[in-house]
Amino acid sequence: MRNEWFSFTSEVKKMYEKDFVALHEPTFTEVEVDYVTDCIKSGWVSSVGKYVERFEKELAEFTGVKRAIAVVNGTAALHIALKVVGVKAEDEVFMPSLTFVATANAVSYLGAVPHFVDVSENTLGIDPVKLEDHILRIGDFKGNHLINKETGRIIRAVVPMHTFGHPVEIDELQVICKKYNLILIEDAAESLGSYYKGKHTGSFGKVSALSFNGNKIITTGGGGAILTNDEDIADYAKHITTTAKIPHRWAYNHDEIGYNYRLPNINAALGCAQLEKMHNFIEHKRKITSYYEKLVKNIAGVQLFKEPEHTKSNYWLQTLILDHTYNRDEVLDFLNEQGVMSRPIWTPLHLLTPYSNMPTANLSITDDLNSLIINIPSTPLREV
Ligand SMILES: *Cc1c(COP(=O)(O)O)cnc(C)c1O
Repeated sequence: MRNEWFSFTSEVKKMYEKDFVALHEPTFTEVEVDYVTDCIKSGWVSSVGKYVERFEKELAEFTGVKRAIAVVNGTAALHIALKVVGVKAEDEVFMPSLTFVATANAVSYLGAVPHFVDVSENTLGIDPVKLEDHILRIGDFKGNHLINKETGRIIRAVVPMHTFGHPVEIDELQVICKKYNLILIEDAAESLGSYYKGKHTGSFGKVSALSFNGNKIITTGGGGAILTNDEDIADYAKHITTTAKIPHRWAYNHDEIGYNYRLPNINAALGCAQLEKMHNFIEHKRKITSYYEKLVKNIAGVQLFKEPEHTKSNYWLQTLILDHTYNRDEVLDFLNEQGVMSRPIWTPLHLLTPYSNMPTANLSITDDLNSLIINIPSTPLREV
């Protein structure tokens, strides 16, 4: 590797004051300890308790939606988000191939079919222009439904994902959804604290999903949430994620097949503490971005990915885009050997065994970016 990469890794280790720098670690202080301790002392660690309600209320306030429903993880949030808006078996659902596998898994749990579309180099999320081109090529309108002419299936919904916290062109996607009668569901698992034209990601779709996994911008250990402005959808989501039990003082009656997806109170306690620090986290993330910007300027053929126009990103994972002179895997080997933990982007889903035979659009940008993207350490620098 060239000299400038050696000085990059030594500067990163200096910045973190560590010989080995992890990709992304949770940041905890006494606040987390206090809330979790309080939860344990109360005895209410499981399916009932004050922290779940409080976390849901604070999440809704933070993201600017009417309701948030806390669940066990982001995948469960996506599963229920898709179900409550009416995605059914044999429906097709547009989504990027360049996403974490959970987006496609959630669709598959309902017996529906992921339909992969390409991304934009400017956002790393669904490219609206290419999406519409693809719809015009393969789509047909029958009885108010968009039909995939090649498979005969209804295309029901679009699930954009805000990659590494950077918002997609969501208003363009809203226009397309309206025009072609598609339901918009946001996979906002990575974008808590990210805004598009001043509005929080996850507040544009009919429903959206957040994740609070250990590697996300805030964590509850494991956890997720469904966001929506529709009270009926919110009530239904709450109902089926809590075993579809009909409220009663002592009787066990359930009016449909429900799910045990409720977030335990002890995890919600952790979430309340983490949420109090969101503004600090984002400030620190943006500071790291400007440090990296200075370091990366000295390396030929590499760009630090910056938030798209009209957006404010949470910069959850810092991202390098290599040019074609590089071999990505050599760079990854070097960085990891030097103690600067780095990872490639997820293998695009259309290349994974379970999703290799799904309908797809032309995925040239996805295939190209797959070999050029590297995530580098992104933990906030000091205790916040
Ligand atoms: C993390 C993540 C999820 C799923 O979240 P879990 O809480 O791990 O189930 C879904 N989609 C994307 C894009 C993610 O990054």
